Amino acid sequence: MIYSWGDERRFNSYSRYFVKQFGRRVQKISIDAGFSCPNRDGRISTGGCTFCSNEAFNPSYCRPEKSIKQQIEEGIEFHRRRYRRASQYLAYFQPFSNTYKPLEELKSIYQQALEGIDTLACPSMSYRTTAGESVSMDGQTRYDMPPKPQIIGIVIGTRPDLIDEGILQYLNEIQKTHYVMLEYGVESVYDETLKRVNRGHDFATAEHVIRLTAEHGIPCGAHFIFGLPGESKTVMLNAADIISQLPLTTVKFHQLQIFKGTQMAEEYQLHPEHFHLFDLEEYIDFVIDFAERLNPNIVIERFAGEVPPRYLVSEPWMKLRYDEVLSLTEKRMEERDTWQGKKVQV
Ligand code: SF4
Repeated sequence: MIYSWGDERRFNSYSRYFVKQFGRRVQKISIDAGFSCPNRDGRISTGGCTFCSNEAFNPSYCRPEKSIKQQIEEGIEFHRRRYRRASQYLAYFQPFSNTYKPLEELKSIYQQALEGIDTLACPSMSYRTTAGESVSMDGQTRYDMPPKPQIIGIVIGTRPDLIDEGILQYLNEIQKTHYVMLEYGVESVYDETLKRVNRGHDFATAEHVIRLTAEHGIPCGAHFIFGLPGESKTVMLNAADIISQLPLTTVKFHQLQIFKGTQMAEEYQLHPEHFHLFDLEEYIDFVIDFAERLNPNIVIERFAGEVPPRYLVSEPWMKLRYDEVLSLTEKRMEERDTWQGKKVQV
């Protein structure tokens, strides 16, 4: 069966979105441009969100002491080794709050990423031929040259309270020539939860900025965590109806992961009874229940998070690679003969 998003997968996938958007596979390259966060530097609070550990999500090549250009080059090389099909990339400003600087500085940072890279200026990079052999780019040995890698746009991760009209207008300008997406950490649609994890903004702020971003014609993504303390499964599932009403392009879901050294890790040690950590099967059934109630027009970028196990306090199944979790989720959707949006009232 072909679903409304245009393929046979049982959910509206990010890979499908890229193919629709660009006609091919596109890979995101994470960049740490040295941003901070007002929820850590004292402007809002100093403690940060109780679950926050940016270090856990940063790939090894992604370090603020390296230039943006160097991170892009190393990121492309890293992804080329793992996924041979991509030749177009999006610069993904991921850790911390990537709109937390004056507009003029933001312009300069985003522009550095959009200038892309000159592959011939990077002799250390190696490329794979169609036969799968590595070809050294030393200026001498050139065989089957794959297409030159290109940065075709930017994805900017930030807090919903760090966007204003000036930034949106600027992004609107650059999206005439490049792809642009804003990705907001929303985490929960419930103010009580947001307060409890010291998020420093409420859901109304997130809702407002998502609508404003969409009004400016900029694709907009949102990140949610399942399993935050105080939320029952029913309460979490009800969030699907609220999220479905938002003009979102994409969503990312993460199971609650408790990272070493965070405030949440301390709370977990003292009061494990405050937490409900999903086991794998339960989580897969939960995200499928959630997807059934989710607007089928919203692209699901991820069903679950994946970080190196050394950062985690516990949760053995979280050592699974995301690809494995995704394939189990799709298999389970088949067993249940269900799909994204199946229970959405039209
Ligand atoms: S807003 Fe983001 S970077 Fe800042 S403390 Fe929260 S999770 Fe961490």
